[in-house]
Amino acid sequence: MKNILVTGGAGYIGSHVVVKLHEHGYNPIIIDDFSNSQHSVIQGIKNITGKDFKVYEGDILDQSLLKKIFGNHKIEGIIHFAAKKAVGESVEKPLYYYKNNVSGLVSLLEVVKEFNVKNLIFSSSCTVYGQPDKLPVTEETPKKPANSPYGNTKQIGEEIIEDTINSGTTLKAIALRYFNPIGAHPSSEIGELPLGTPNNLVPFITQTAAGLRDSLTVFGDNYDTPDGTCIRDYIHVMDLADAHVRCIEYLEVENSDQHFDVLNIGTGRGNTVLEVINAFESVSGLKLNFKIGDRRAGDVEQIFAQVDKSRQILKWETQHSLTEAMRDSWKWQQKLSNKSSSDSVS
Ligand code: NAD
Repeated sequence: MKNILVTGGAGYIGSHVVVKLHEHGYNPIIIDDFSNSQHSVIQGIKNITGKDFKVYEGDILDQSLLKKIFGNHKIEGIIHFAAKKAVGESVEKPLYYYKNNVSGLVSLLEVVKEFNVKNLIFSSSCTVYGQPDKLPVTEETPKKPANSPYGNTKQIGEEIIEDTINSGTTLKAIALRYFNPIGAHPSSEIGELPLGTPNNLVPFITQTAAGLRDSLTVFGDNYDTPDGTCIRDYIHVMDLADAHVRCIEYLEVENSDQHFDVLNIGTGRGNTVLEVINAFESVSGLKLNFKIGDRRAGDVEQIFAQVDKSRQILKWETQHSLTEAMRDSWKWQQKLSNKSSSDSVS
């Protein structure tokens, strides 16, 4: 069974990818420092798969740990999720973000080179496009200057990998530019676990509905969109996870020693914030307490992907609707709320 190292494998996207890798006959090996995840995620993965995967608790900046992992296991490919991802926090703590996300990637690549690992997937983001001049965005859409240190770490990350390959390193890598991942595993064993106040819309909606937050503020309803609220391309995390496995499969058969490419991973559809709220209300049967506030600095008006390239290269299609994603997010939130109320009773 082929070993795939999943950095950040206890995180939101990483944990779903671990499950999908297992379903496709791979042996995922996790490294995570649990700085933005909880150990219970590993139990959730076990409940779904019935397997205890090897977990290394530590930092990707720790090269002695990385060398130990590569020494202990023959690693066929790496899916590199481990990074900090809060845009606002990155503005307050840029050096922390550059160290973790950029130096972390450099640390990993040095060891990748030393151990001659062949295949790498890098978690990039649609933030590299900023507010594009034309929609939908293709992989050819020019990148805009990043509007946060976080966004910059994704742009720089892609460039570091490409430069490394161009310098002669034998490595095949693909940067997947995610649009907006939402939803949870349909079993509700794993899902998004935001520590503190969520940065993303969907966990904010579900936490508000669960009574953990008083109300949701929609940032602006005077944009040039059908209902005035911002448009994003929301993709179910299970579809996103599937794209990673297909990408690993593609890299394995890609017939060259060196390869670098970027792929958009979204649905190809945009939805407004109010459409997402409506979808939530219809699956939950609840009325969400929300109000319209001012626009939020740094928000782009609308962005959604063109996904022809990833469909063609990965032979991949999204399978889940916005409604299914909202249903799975809500089931996951209800499970979390039930667990925390039973924890506080016991
Ligand atoms: P997450 O925070 O849930 O997962 C990241 C995991 O990496 C966490 O478990 C964290 O503990 C771990 N980690 C962070 N720094 C580490 C380090 N130095 N060493 C070891 N482990 C470390 O985030 P996610 O939503 O699963 O995102 C995964 C990747 O996808 C990130 O690179 C993120 O920037 C990128 N991304 C996420 C989104 C999104 O909306 N969730 C969108 C675009 C791109």
